[in-house]
Amino acid sequence: MTSQGSEPPVGPLDTHSDATAGPLGTHSNVLGGAAAPLVRSLDNLTHETMGPYNIVPVASPLTQPYWDGAKEGKLVLQRCQGCGYYNHPPNYICINCKNRDHELAWEEVSGRATLYTHYICYDTSVSGFEEKVPYAVCIVELEEQTGLLLMSNILNFEYGELGEGLTMGLPLEVVFEQVNDDVWIPQFQPRSS
Ligand SMILES: [Zn+2]
Repeated sequence: MTSQGSEPPVGPLDTHSDATAGPLGTHSNVLGGAAAPLVRSLDNLTHETMGPYNIVPVASPLTQPYWDGAKEGKLVLQRCQGCGYYNHPPNYICINCKNRDHELAWEEVSGRATLYTHYICYDTSVSGFEEKVPYAVCIVELEEQTGLLLMSNILNFEYGELGEGLTMGLPLEVVFEQVNDDVWIPQFQPRSS
């Protein structure tokens, strides 16, 4: 994927009022789509929600339990019943012990995590997310296991235009964001306790 004009916009919102270009307009044009303008203020970003979602996750047979759990307000992950290792994303055999005889069962985890890393997305060529930029895309590390990482958005938290406030190790907890009647997405927010 090519990227042109990769400098993030740092000026006030009204400097990006050209609806035909967008902050990465040339990037979007390469992909054949029309870039959207920035619609949020760059000061003290607060994403209480990432909704409405124009793209809805579709479960596969392998990931169905993950989404079923989220719908019930539970963060469930695949865990090897032989060695105890959590596998995420889910797999067909445990990536730790690689023993094909060990069952991979779904178990609820605490939902407690810390911020592992993040970036602020300004890319308006990501279909379905054009109107949401800028927003933080985060990798969180669950406390159950070193290196147990999930991709998430950070909700209910003000962070700066370049991600100020999103410090590594920030304590987080899972929160379930409703997409429609059937789909809930595990997201993360600063830990309340
Ligand atoms: Zn294992």
